[in-house]
Amino acid sequence: MKRLPLVIILLVLSLTWIFPAQAQGEITVTQDSYLTSFPTQVKFTLEARSSSDIVRITLVYQLAGEAAVNTAYPEFQPSKEIKTEYVWNTKKSYVPPGVEVEYYWRIEDAAGHTLKTPPKSFVYADTRYTWQQLSRGKLVLSWYRGSQDFGQALLDAAAKGLEQIDREAGIKVERTVKIFVYGSQADLLGALEPRHSEWTGGVSFSEMGIILLDISEGRLSWGKRALVHELTHVAVHQATDNPYGEVPRWLNEGLAMYMEGDLESPYASALNQAIKENRLFSLRSLSSYPGDPRQVTLYYAESYSVVKYLIDNFGREKMAQLMATFKEGTTQDTALTQVLGLSTDGLDAQWRQSLGAKPKASPGPTRSATPSPTVPVGGLAPGSRQGLVILLCLFLPIIGGGLLAVALGAGALYFSRRKA
Ligand SMILES: [Zn+2]
Repeated sequence: MKRLPLVIILLVLSLTWIFPAQAQGEITVTQDSYLTSFPTQVKFTLEARSSSDIVRITLVYQLAGEAAVNTAYPEFQPSKEIKTEYVWNTKKSYVPPGVEVEYYWRIEDAAGHTLKTPPKSFVYADTRYTWQQLSRGKLVLSWYRGSQDFGQALLDAAAKGLEQIDREAGIKVERTVKIFVYGSQADLLGALEPRHSEWTGGVSFSEMGIILLDISEGRLSWGKRALVHELTHVAVHQATDNPYGEVPRWLNEGLAMYMEGDLESPYASALNQAIKENRLFSLRSLSSYPGDPRQVTLYYAESYSVVKYLIDNFGREKMAQLMATFKEGTTQDTALTQVLGLSTDGLDAQWRQSLGAKPKASPGPTRSATPSPTVPVGGLAPGSRQGLVILLCLFLPIIGGGLLAVALGAGALYFSRRKA
């Protein structure tokens, strides 16, 4: 384990790098700099000159983990000497803290000369806090409120979580995961898009390997579970990312729930009740989140249960093979048949049998006519926000998903009230 001194990730509120003048043909760059102010903007500045008028300037930048390349065309008057800047508004197009950004300029003059500056990179850091940092293996954990022991306890939980994800599901994390622990919910919300509200406990940006959580010292045990949950999503993303398809949602959420630890009582009750009343969702219908927010608890409980059945009965190697198959963009039915020798319905039937549940007859969650509350009143201690992070991750794949997102948001509110 490597312990870093009090950080300094970005002591200064902004970073400015000035690179030595460079020239190609007739074009010379005299200043190439940037200034970051999380969460508002990054300002890129360029000064250049040439023997003929500079007529075209392009800024090309890319976020680590994203395939998309962005281009911007700053305003300037064509001239032999130019100074221009481009302000990247990160309020408009949200960028999480900790993302590495790479950029370069392309400059063209009227005589046909072109200069491409060498690519530069920087970390878009949240410099409003004085972060402490601990790292181990692929994990980098940053926090600013709470003792060294607090940070250490969270890092230990994360490292243990990663070991378990590998040991039980054969999923390895190959790329760095940055975890930012905010000291209050207000602070966390201040680092997120405005669409998040008071029920947001954490968010993972799996493709960038970044996790943001609000964990105070008084909520350490909740924080550990939430951290491992989100970490599992990042690990699953790294293991299965491909341009053609996604890992089934029940598998992703089920793995995250499973790695958290024992199923908490509201979920266990929801599952048992559904078994007793013969209204389990079909495995096929778990491919999409429930339309009725009141059924979210059962959705997660079932996802957990199917994953537990898979791990208990098929083991690590088969789970690892499943991940590798999904990485090829394979559909759920094909992957299950190839790896387990079972169709989705076949797995559904075996899993139901293992629970002592009746064979499948119920409709999917979006079509269920009489949804019933699934979280027992008083199931958790007052003020507990356990479960909220879980609800949050279900939002992320459907950002901008309109009605469904609104419905799920309502579900989260509902959920937290019921739990309180
Ligand atoms: Zn989740």
